[in-house]
Amino acid sequence: MSDKNQPLSGNDMPRFAGQASMFRLPTHETPDGLDVGIVGVPLDIGTSNRVGARYGPRQIRAESVLVRPYGMATGAAPFDSFNVGDLGDVALNTYNLEKSIDIITAHYEALLESHVKTISLGGDHTVALPILRAQAKKYGPLAVIHVDAHADMNDAMFGEPVTHGTIFRRAIEEQLIDPELMIQIGLRATGYAAEDFDWAKDRGVQVVPAEDCWYQSLAPLMDEFRKKVGPDQPVYLSFDIDGLDPSCAPGTGTPEPGGLTTSQGIEIIRGASGLNLIGADLVEVSPPYDTTGNTALLAANLVFEMLCALPGCKRS
Ligand code: MN
Ligand code: MN
Repeated sequence: MSDKNQPLSGNDMPRFAGQASMFRLPTHETPDGLDVGIVGVPLDIGTSNRVGARYGPRQIRAESVLVRPYGMATGAAPFDSFNVGDLGDVALNTYNLEKSIDIITAHYEALLESHVKTISLGGDHTVALPILRAQAKKYGPLAVIHVDAHADMNDAMFGEPVTHGTIFRRAIEEQLIDPELMIQIGLRATGYAAEDFDWAKDRGVQVVPAEDCWYQSLAPLMDEFRKKVGPDQPVYLSFDIDGLDPSCAPGTGTPEPGGLTTSQGIEIIRGASGLNLIGADLVEVSPPYDTTGNTALLAANLVFEMLCALPGCKRS
């Protein structure tokens, strides 16, 4: 018997029953004793189009009941490797984006005083900025793997400096990210101006448009990125579900056609194994647009892959 938290088995309690925590793990009030904490950030007042990502954490947890403890392709055994728990949701102020950002930053700063690593469930992508502020305060400027249809590098939207479309510009300006060690994968579709992707490129960000990913494995791209970053540099993974094609992830606020496949998304996360991954998020799942639940189910499986990619995850 492992001394670590184990997901409640579908053979002990039906999968559709019991407490609706992430992966059917025990819930924890504090990060004490945890190696990895799952944190919900149910914010969607930073979105520019469809809302609904506030329901993301709850729905991803609900669909996560189908995820089992072992990765069959990789042999990964995250729950034998780390003590993982569900740390619940951030009590943000849904009437005030600015205040919510500060609440989220303070919440993560407090969590990161312990040795816990966080994997966060969005929420819209705005949540990545306060999380990055707390993570960079602890680890210094971060390398970043950013999967998205959008660059999220706008200077402002509707005059606002902090929205789900401006966060990575702010994060680079605030030196939370080393742009030379950032890769953006899956960017595509239509922009406000033809030069929309250039601000990041000019600062050294590696921009990989979706068209460069079509019809091929992304394992070589990730091999290259791992070589560039090395095994010690702290890396953060930010996964916007709209990086994937709407045919596999329709339940999201700003869907764009021609995106990555599910298997390419998994390749990116598996390709982070071997890096010093210090945290990750999965954002922009909008359950009201996810009529089958499959987007949230996919998100839960991607979060499982994130656990498997953390340094020290045992493989059989
Ligand atoms: Mn995004
Ligand atoms: Mn996006």
